[in-house]
Amino acid sequence: MINGSGISKGIGIGIAKVIGSQSGDMSSEEFASALSGVKPGAVLVSSHLTPYMVGMLKDHSIAGLVCETGGLSSHSALVAKSMGIPAVYDAAGATDAVKDGDTVIVDGISGYIYERPDSDVVASYMDKRKKYLADLDELKRYRDMKTVMADGTEATVMCNTSDILSVMHALDEGGEGIGLFRTEILMSGEGRVPDEEEQTRVYSRIATAMRGKEVVIRTLDIGGDKNIPFLELEKEENPFLGYRGVRYSLGHKDIFATQLRAILRASAHGNISIMIPMITCVEEMRSIKSLINEIKTDLRDEGYEFNDDIKVGATMETPSAAIIADMLARECDFFSIGTNDLVQYVMSADRGNSRVAYLQSVTQPSILRMIKQTIDAAKSAGIDASMCGEAASDPEVIPIFAGFGCRKFSVNPLSVTEVRRTLSEWSVEDAEKLASDVLKIPIDQEVRDYIRKIYKDRKS
Ligand code: PEP
Ligand code: MG
Repeated sequence: MINGSGISKGIGIGIAKVIGSQSGDMSSEEFASALSGVKPGAVLVSSHLTPYMVGMLKDHSIAGLVCETGGLSSHSALVAKSMGIPAVYDAAGATDAVKDGDTVIVDGISGYIYERPDSDVVASYMDKRKKYLADLDELKRYRDMKTVMADGTEATVMCNTSDILSVMHALDEGGEGIGLFRTEILMSGEGRVPDEEEQTRVYSRIATAMRGKEVVIRTLDIGGDKNIPFLELEKEENPFLGYRGVRYSLGHKDIFATQLRAILRASAHGNISIMIPMITCVEEMRSIKSLINEIKTDLRDEGYEFNDDIKVGATMETPSAAIIADMLARECDFFSIGTNDLVQYVMSADRGNSRVAYLQSVTQPSILRMIKQTIDAAKSAGIDASMCGEAASDPEVIPIFAGFGCRKFSVNPLSVTEVRRTLSEWSVEDAEKLASDVLKIPIDQEVRDYIRKIYKDRKS
């Protein structure tokens, strides 16, 4: 048995196909050619997977995915999660331990991988899978419901999406809006950045499809572990601390202004807001707002329609932003807390590095304090603070965020119903008590143990 991080729920049972290299630096072309031999229903075991490689699995109907590297919130893992493939990352030694043709069980819930399991283990996993599928069935009834907490307090569950297909998926799963539209896939188009007309069409289509529901479009967030090859980003020593997100956009006004013009023009067709990634200081927000004002003047002169009151907000994902949340709140129309990056930056633990995966936990007291402080600052300023990081779909921490006062969660479409069910099980009073209790606990694991005990007591 191998232990890794369960990143995408579900249980996959199938025949292994091992694709890997010792150095872990397989190119996308080599990966694509290795994939040609993968049969539907196989479990893919790989040394390293980029987000792009995981995207290639779309046409292969695999039963499960194992990757030796990558943390819980690496972009590669997020893509696997959005595709609903049972997956375990951070599984050191998997490509050695598993041989081509082995039967393999991937438990995306616990993070266990069983190579060549005996018949008892297979039988017990068949049973677990049946129960998991029955729970998925039970969750379906939450799809068309409103999101209401146990005491009648209303909340909203929106979706994180990155292309038109995932927006449709969000609608199918009962998403009440798009809380985060990541534009990196769109912007990496067909070997070039799409022009203003092309982008306007895509953003307008999303806004129209969502029929007045909120659509938060995040401007380009490349750098870190996200690259667009034809933009030829310079190689950096510390890419996550480098020329990323808003820093790149402010340095490439041509690309940025085109994107902002397109988002503004699309705002004539629905309820669109603009979200800026990687904000660290007030100066960045002010520069962006003045650029948006210039663009509005141009669009007006050119006779284009747009929403003059379009909301402009920040992804709260850097320690600096959280520390000055009260100051940023005066510059922003909303906050959206990006726990994936916030955890990486506050804990100084690269989100893609499995060696420091044990530090990448949203229940670390430092993170909980920062989240609370950010939500408090938003409340005092009278703006919304939603959550859009992966933690927003974790049933164990949702009640804590609700207890801090968060009422808007943006999650992978596949998680909408479970988040809605979790919220329906908690009253504001109980969530506030939980939130205030966990803030007093100094150890990450003890926070988790405390929540698990409460869940257990509630069930009995
Ligand atoms: C985050 O950082 O939490 C987030 C939502 O953005 P991304 O995962 O795209 O960096
Ligand atoms: Mg981020």
